[in-house]
Amino acid sequence: MITVQKFGGTSLSDAHGRQHVLRHIRRERDAGRQLVVVVSAMGRRGEAYATDTLLDWIQDNGDSLPARERDLLLSCGELISAATLCSLLNESDLPSVALTGGQAGILTDGKYGSARIVRVDPERILSHLNEGRIVVVAGFQGMTESGEVTTLGRGGSDTSATALGAALHADVVDIYTDVDGILTADPRLVREARQLAVVSYEEICNMAHNGAKVIHPRAVEVAMKAGVPVRVRSTFSDGEGTLVTHADIARGEIGWTDRTVTGLAHVRGVTQISVETRDGPSDLQLSVFRAMASNGISVDFINVMPAGVLYTVTEADTPLAIRLLREMGFHPRITGGCAKVSVIGGGMNGEPGVMARIVEALTGRGIPILQSADSNTTIWVLVSEEDMAPALTALHAAFGLHLIP
Ligand code: ADP
Ligand code: MG
Repeated sequence: MITVQKFGGTSLSDAHGRQHVLRHIRRERDAGRQLVVVVSAMGRRGEAYATDTLLDWIQDNGDSLPARERDLLLSCGELISAATLCSLLNESDLPSVALTGGQAGILTDGKYGSARIVRVDPERILSHLNEGRIVVVAGFQGMTESGEVTTLGRGGSDTSATALGAALHADVVDIYTDVDGILTADPRLVREARQLAVVSYEEICNMAHNGAKVIHPRAVEVAMKAGVPVRVRSTFSDGEGTLVTHADIARGEIGWTDRTVTGLAHVRGVTQISVETRDGPSDLQLSVFRAMASNGISVDFINVMPAGVLYTVTEADTPLAIRLLREMGFHPRITGGCAKVSVIGGGMNGEPGVMARIVEALTGRGIPILQSADSNTTIWVLVSEEDMAPALTALHAAFGLHLIP
């Protein structure tokens, strides 16, 4: 029985965390499991081997590294983690081997900085496992067919873990992190957030796409396609965490609650743009969205009305969006500093009154809703960034999420 364990940056950053990591490895090993351990770089910006520290380093040293060499540098953080863990394991009489992503058989396309995994060749890992070793794999990285080192983008180690889990037909992929599991909202913003015992792949994928960064959405998609169960759990405790599985299996699990709303997510740094018909040509609607699309700007919260168009872009895309609109002769109205708050739940499909409860919860606290949108499993509201945390707290209470056992 193969188990894939993934340890995030916060779990590995200090000696105390690494002792917990060893404890989880030893426990699973003692239970007779073959282990593949995926590691992220240690710590956050400012700590010596963190990925953001490596990025800052280059910025301070010429800042003109080509994409290929940039990925070479960025892949180092995980290599240091893997070697460190290998050393600690061997010292604890747990024989292990450390592999780069490429050596572990993770093949990617050539898109440096955000490469996609195209295939996993598990033979090398399997032969180490069969010889009794724990296999430590550097997360967040892979290799192209021609042997170039690539990185997978933010949250990439989660995807390394589920892709290996799928290729190895693992029983489970355990994502260890600094919270107890998947919570109803980000605990950094909502103190009352509750841990969910079970969620479906669709639910967490939806939460992750809307900003819940506890697990990367692509990692969930890979697991879902292969049907590998995932658990999100704490490095610092022995809790079971949150099980992520198919909706029909999830329904049969203890702890599953039929709920209208499963959780909340948020994204900061959103800019609202309004362009009115009277200041532009008659094909305004078409030309605005064409200009955004052909310049790679993704748009959200799109409202097309006879009076004009209203939509949002990310803070990073804002200067380019404004320049393009001005060049086309428009006078866009810009509202920066917005946040997208998402109310997510597979159970809200067809249930009446969900939007009314959202409006009531927010306007009741004097929080203006700048825009809204909905699908059958999510309702999005745009609020000012300073209203984001109070909005999350109000919605959390309004949908009784603090009552989840
Ligand atoms: P790691 O370094 O282990 O990959 P991350 O920082 O990427 O850790 O992810 C864990 C963090 O995700 C938590 O500390 C928490 O603040 C945040 N988070 C956001 N939304 C949620 C949620 N719904 N449930 C749990 N954690 C969440
Ligand atoms: Mg992460």
